[in-house]
Amino acid sequence: MQTSFSSAQLADPKVAEAESILRKCVHCGFCTATCPTYVTLGNELDSPRGRIYLIKDMLENDRPADKETVTHIDRCLSCLSCVTTCPSGVDYMHLVDHARVHIEKTYKRPPLNRFTRAVLAAVLPYPGRFRAALRLARLGRPFAGLFSGREALKPFEAMLKLAPKRLPAPSAISKPASHAPETDKRGRVALLTGCAQSVLDPCINEATVRLLTRLGIEVVVPKGEGCCGALVHHMGREEQALAEARRNVDVWTREIEAGGLDAVIITASGCGTTIKDYGHMLAQDPAYAEKAARVSALAKDITEYLSTLALDEQPRKGVTVAYHSACSMQHGQQIKAAPKLLLEAAGFAVREPAEGHLCCGSAGTYNIMQPEISAKLKARKVKNIEALKPDIIATGNIGCITQIASGTKTPILHTVELLDWAYGGPKPAKLAGSGY
Ligand code: SF4
Ligand code: SF4
Repeated sequence: MQTSFSSAQLADPKVAEAESILRKCVHCGFCTATCPTYVTLGNELDSPRGRIYLIKDMLENDRPADKETVTHIDRCLSCLSCVTTCPSGVDYMHLVDHARVHIEKTYKRPPLNRFTRAVLAAVLPYPGRFRAALRLARLGRPFAGLFSGREALKPFEAMLKLAPKRLPAPSAISKPASHAPETDKRGRVALLTGCAQSVLDPCINEATVRLLTRLGIEVVVPKGEGCCGALVHHMGREEQALAEARRNVDVWTREIEAGGLDAVIITASGCGTTIKDYGHMLAQDPAYAEKAARVSALAKDITEYLSTLALDEQPRKGVTVAYHSACSMQHGQQIKAAPKLLLEAAGFAVREPAEGHLCCGSAGTYNIMQPEISAKLKARKVKNIEALKPDIIATGNIGCITQIASGTKTPILHTVELLDWAYGGPKPAKLAGSGY
């Protein structure tokens, strides 16, 4: 694609990067067929190619974002299916990240939209606040319908509907600690316990620590870790995202220097995509560029790391698992085979749903901010999964777990919970009462 940025514009490294991404797009449109919003809405402006044109026009003319551009960029899930599909290697992820920062700086959103976004940014990344908000939301659940009348109030309806009916008790696993290996030590890792996940489903990190320590890995939960920054990063809140990234880089750098780390383990693939990008996000910060790149190189999804540990084959269990690959897993991190191979080796019969490349509609805060598109994608995903008639659904991202669980009665677990069970851990509580 031809571009016409001035040399003054290109002096800004972020604009120069956006320009080089734009130039790679050859308008072929292959990406439209695999874009969930194009597939759902059928509008070229809700396709990757359409959004690329909107971003080009906005950046090239150095103009504030307008309503039309914001509408179509807001509808983008950042699922990165287009990145997997694109034959020209267009780095849509960094282009849309840049566009979102530009929108945040130049566009004045309607007051209720601004308020909702501010509340999400102030609550979700902080487990204490998030837990308190979920308690309140449980009380408000019966009144969710009152918010359905006005477009601007629909995110509040979505928030109330998504709030779980029962909230697990806080788990000791989120507290800073070093968990010693139960057998000869063969590695040392840091575990990101996460923000929303640690509140919604602490069993995931508990299973991770049990499994790794049984396999001879020391697991450190370092003091001072926090949200990876993905939630606010996708809202274009650059400073908050970078502050969260710097804090985590400092924490893990201290651990690297104190005892050495073989990996930083992440059990939510949405967080993994962002942490693997810290090196890029902080590349212009001389005090952090090197440290951030080192952390990104150590970041591993739990299934990526387990694949290096050569786990034994387990006998068949007669349990069919539908594996849902989160977008951040298959597109963001390009991890496709590892989770399925691990589940198969652990004795599960693994099936993959049709249209596995399409997002379930969760996408960070998307199911709150864009509830209608999200609901359509959820229904499509659940239909494809249920067609397999699985006993269990497995996935590697808490956002997908929450989203899909709200549309099906089939139990949905994190892949590592099934692996922990298969390799000597307790049966997951969600499967209590099942005959397996
Ligand atoms: S990130 Fe996903 S929703 Fe956004 S343009 Fe690409 S395929 Fe479409
Ligand atoms: S597939 Fe790639 S090159 Fe083709 S239109 Fe989409 S982003 Fe551009």
